[in-house]
Amino acid sequence: MDASGKTVTLISATVEIDPVHLKPGEVLVPFEGGHAEIQKIRFAIANGYKVLYVNPNIPLCPTCAFQARQAGLTLRGAMVSGKPAVPLDTLTDADLARMEPRTTGPDFKTHDKKSW
Ligand SMILES: [Zn+2]
Repeated sequence: MDASGKTVTLISATVEIDPVHLKPGEVLVPFEGGHAEIQKIRFAIANGYKVLYVNPNIPLCPTCAFQARQAGLTLRGAMVSGKPAVPLDTLTDADLARMEPRTTGPDFKTHDKKSW
């Protein structure tokens, strides 16, 4: 939701998107690299949007799933990428941390809430 209370859809991805593909009511999150849902949440905070939920068209990666759930933004039925994808509701935060080795690696800071 934007600052005026209008509901919009924030579009983010792990690749650059051409804005010509946007539909009415969609707002493109500038591509910064890294995790799509984390880029979106950061963009929303920086630009005065209130995020109601995240609803990716592919399963969340464990890092995005962890951050989105911490922020209370995941929907029932959300899936986490894996082989095969796993329902988020069946995973604990510790499970997610185990699934995503990068959360303990050198780029951990970019995923750390305190750096937002
Ligand atoms: Zn991610």
